[in-house]
Order: sequence, then C-alpha cells, then structure tokens
Amino acid sequence: MKLKSLEIAGFKSFANKTTISFTDGLTAIVGPNGSGKSNVIEAIRWVLGEQSSKTLRGTKMSDVIFSGSSTHNPVNRAEVKLTLDNSDQYINSSYSEIIITRRLYRSGESQYLINNSECRLKDINNLFMDTGMGLGSFSIISQGSVEDIFNSKPEDRRSIIETAAGVYKYKQQKHDANLK
Ligand code: ATP
Ligand code: MG
Repeated sequence: MKLKSLEIAGFKSFANKTTISFTDGLTAIVGPNGSGKSNVIEAIRWVLGEQSSKTLRGTKMSDVIFSGSSTHNPVNRAEVKLTLDNSDQYINSSYSEIIITRRLYRSGESQYLINNSECRLKDINNLFMDTGMGLGSFSIISQGSVEDIFNSKPEDRRSIIETAAGVYKYKQQKHDANLK
C-alpha cells in the first residue's frame, strides 16, 4: 500500500486545487516559512478523519476552509482527496485503488466518501484501523511526539505498543460488543 496522490482544494492556504503526486521513493516538501508545508500534512490528517480542530491548529473545524488572501476571495468549501495504491490488498478492501474524500462547507455540512460513494466517518476509521495509517497510529510523527513517547507513563506507553502491534482493533471490537 502506498500513497499515490493528494488533492487539496479550499483547505487552509490552498485556495486553488493543488495536486501532489507521490512517486516511488521519498517525497520531500520544502518551502519558506508559512508556505503551507504543515498544511499538507494536516490535509492528510483531516481526510483520514481528524476531529480535533486544535490538532489542526484551529479553534473550530471551519477554520480549515480557505479564508481568503490578498489575491483570492474566501471559498465556501474545503475538499481533500487522498488516493492510495492498494494493489497489494494491504488494506482490507477489494479495491486496488482507494480514494478517500472529505468535504466541509461553511454551512457546517460535511461529507466523507470512499471511492466516490458517500460513507460514514466510522467506515473510514474501520478501513484504516490497524493498518498503521489511521489516526493515532505512527505514520505521522509530529514535532515533539518522539519525546512524548519516552516521557509517557508506562500504561500510556503500553497503549502505544498495542496500537503498533495491531491489538487495538480487537480491544475496540470488544468494547463495542459490550455496549450492545
Ligand atoms: P513553517 O516553515 O514555518 O513550519 P509551513 O510551510 O509549515 O511553515 P504552514 O503552517 O503550513 O506553513 O502554513 C501557514 C499559512 O497557512 C499561514 O500563512 C496561514 O495564514 C495560512 N492559513 C492557515 N489556515 C488558513 C485558512 N483557513 N485560510 C487561508 N490561509 C490559511
Ligand atoms: Mg510547518
């Protein structure tokens, strides 16, 4: 499984549709301060279902919608689309290409799609659970999080190891079954 491309439109500093293609090997994004490098990573977090506006450096979720600049008017919708190559079936889905889309409108309406079909946030969470790519996994390591792992309490560190080992999914299913 690997990232194929990321399409960002109306999200944070990306007023116009911007596509980043990930070719084989390493991709590095470079640019001056404030040019939107962190916004690219936040777009990936967001499309994977991030619900915390604080994690995205905002106070409310609509802060992710492009709010205008000296050259562009504000827009009414943020959209991020992440395309994954799943030809190795690493993600438990029959699709060899998986496209995840998230949209948010100023009206508050929001949409999640898997391969252009509308779905629930839960479906996206389930798709990535225990793949090592979902939220709470370690595919995105932000500044300071390495120190957090070293400095965390033993029980918190245990949960980090459980997530990395793929046990978390079963704990979550047990928790859900107990609620039924
Ligand atoms: P650094 O090198 O300092 O880490 P960076 O390349 O990571 O910088 P970002 O933090 O990704 O830069 O981008 C910050 C820019 O994004 C700021 O100029 C900010 O005004 C802009 N920005 C954030 N949210 C929005 C929004 N909703 N609408 C318009 N611009 C936004
Ligand atoms: Mg940055």
